[in-house]
Amino acid sequence: MDKQRDFVLRTIEERGVKFIRLWFTDVIGTLKSVAIAPAEVEGAFAEGIGFDGSAIEGLTRSFESDLLAQPDPSTFQILPWRGEIDPTARMFCDLTTPDGRPAVSDPRHVLRRALAKAADAGFTFYTHPEIEFYLLKSAQFGPEGPVPVDNAGYFDNVPGGTAHDFRRRSVRMLEDLGISVEYSHHEGGPGQNEIDLRYADALTTADNIMTFRTVVKEVAIEQGVYATFMPKPLSDQPGSGMHTHLSLFEGDTNAFYQAGAEYQLSITGRRFIAGLLRHANEIAAVTNQFVNSYKRLWGGDEAPSFVTWGHNNRSALVRVPMYKPNKGQSTRVEYRAIDSATNPYLAYALMLAAGLKGIEEEYELPREAEDNVWSLTGSERRALGYTSLPASLDHALELMEDSELVAETLGEQVFNYVLLNKRKEWEAYRGQVTPFELKSNLGLL
Ligand code: GLN
Ligand code: MG
Ligand code: MG
Ligand code: MG
Repeated sequence: MDKQRDFVLRTIEERGVKFIRLWFTDVIGTLKSVAIAPAEVEGAFAEGIGFDGSAIEGLTRSFESDLLAQPDPSTFQILPWRGEIDPTARMFCDLTTPDGRPAVSDPRHVLRRALAKAADAGFTFYTHPEIEFYLLKSAQFGPEGPVPVDNAGYFDNVPGGTAHDFRRRSVRMLEDLGISVEYSHHEGGPGQNEIDLRYADALTTADNIMTFRTVVKEVAIEQGVYATFMPKPLSDQPGSGMHTHLSLFEGDTNAFYQAGAEYQLSITGRRFIAGLLRHANEIAAVTNQFVNSYKRLWGGDEAPSFVTWGHNNRSALVRVPMYKPNKGQSTRVEYRAIDSATNPYLAYALMLAAGLKGIEEEYELPREAEDNVWSLTGSERRALGYTSLPASLDHALELMEDSELVAETLGEQVFNYVLLNKRKEWEAYRGQVTPFELKSNLGLL
């Protein structure tokens, strides 16, 4: 018997675990869960647990709906918010068809496949997300819009404030779940917070992000507030990004590091950035998948709107963060478009594919953007070759539809599903008459 499975079975017995939740993610990035009894776990390891895939967003077409969830024993953890009495544990699952093939629509599989491709080229992909979210008094709101829990800003220390207790409790739970946290702080918007997870391989990070969202939602319920990962909940405040720091390792060596090079960045690192830049617009419908995502990508507040890179430049789409001499292993690039409501498996698969393409095809890195791109006029930007990120979900979908890179990385089924589902969202939105239009038009026209 596999050692990890054995460990899971023993822990269930020793700790008296009563429920084991099997977790997986739909194509949009919603966490799904089915609880099984301890006696079922051995069978689940051997054969998987069957379910109706056609009932879940994007997983199957109805004529081939049977899927199996195969728990991954390396992800076994006891859920701290369920308490000590009759403990509940969880495992993430890989999805397969009844004949044992990976389900093509399983986002975890999409990422695994992208990681395998990187491994063929000799690379391991590491990611470190900075996850931003808002704490609101409630999910209900009146004509003034949602009400944040405080009026604080970036790095503010709020005595007696909700946010401290909130972060403290969340970080503690994450650590109990084996997820290391590096930083946590108040962010720029009122009620906005950020928690940064320690870097890990991308599959672990994507699992950790799914867990993170659940933890944050649970702690919010416990503390009587509402947490949201919506990309831009308040029109005149910053949105919630999920900047992610990316690096490739070849064995123990950081492939982005080169001593003495500009920003300590190797040619591999430069080509990876060039790949991210060239394909950023095609992958946007996944890294920024909601109508609302595009409200964040406009208006500044440190969210990017233009396809540029820079070193100490927070208006850039890709940033090479501050580096410390002789700390080559931490050389990395920060991708700043991605938001907190993405499906992390699909987004990381695409970001990796974009960067790898740059390496494979030896893309040339364009000139670094030194200026605050916001202070330039449109024609100055065009003269410098800075293109815009898509301004709407509609535009992003148009670009994705023509992308070979996205089709290949997501696979036909996920690719088509994302396009179909997101087109529907756009069309529903397009027909809306918004308060903005009523306010600016009704009294005048
Ligand atoms: N909230 C900003 C964004 O949406 C980021 C702010 C920051 O972390 N510097 O991307
Ligand atoms: Mg940060
Ligand atoms: Mg931040
Ligand atoms: Mg950042």
